[in-house]
Amino acid sequence: MARTPFGNRGMTRFQRRKNGGTKTISSERQAAFYIGMAMMVIGFLTFISVFVSAANSIGDFSNVGSGAQSSFTRALVGMGLMMAGAFVRSIGSRGLAGAGVVLDPEQAREDLEPYSRMAGGMVKDALDEADLDLGTSKERVVMIRCQSCGQLNEEDSKFCQECGKTV
Ligand SMILES: [Zn+2]
Repeated sequence: MARTPFGNRGMTRFQRRKNGGTKTISSERQAAFYIGMAMMVIGFLTFISVFVSAANSIGDFSNVGSGAQSSFTRALVGMGLMMAGAFVRSIGSRGLAGAGVVLDPEQAREDLEPYSRMAGGMVKDALDEADLDLGTSKERVVMIRCQSCGQLNEEDSKFCQECGKTV
């Protein structure tokens, strides 16, 4: 796709967003994310309700034939909703190109950038919270040389690990 100095006229929504230079997830994508979530929840509830109503109607053989068929359809609809919801949600979080709907590697990278930066930020926050400083642990190791044999021992060791004498 050539970058041409046209105005906003004739550009697609996605190109305009790209040129806008905002590296955050757009409100449309956030909406898609939540709509997808809602679809997954509704689908899940529909799917689960099949088993709940099946459990409730145990011993009731009055309409076994039609009941089984409608609950089977309901289970299918529920599963379909869950899958469609997951799909819409992934579009929302990764963008159209990032989710593989639009095959455009360059746009996929643009779409995935805020998503991966968000993920990276979460990992960094988790590390900060755990108070892990991966850089300093190595530098802080101090060894003591044994007076009699020259073996290097840990800073807090009382006896030499090589000859057993007091460090
Ligand atoms: Zn020693």
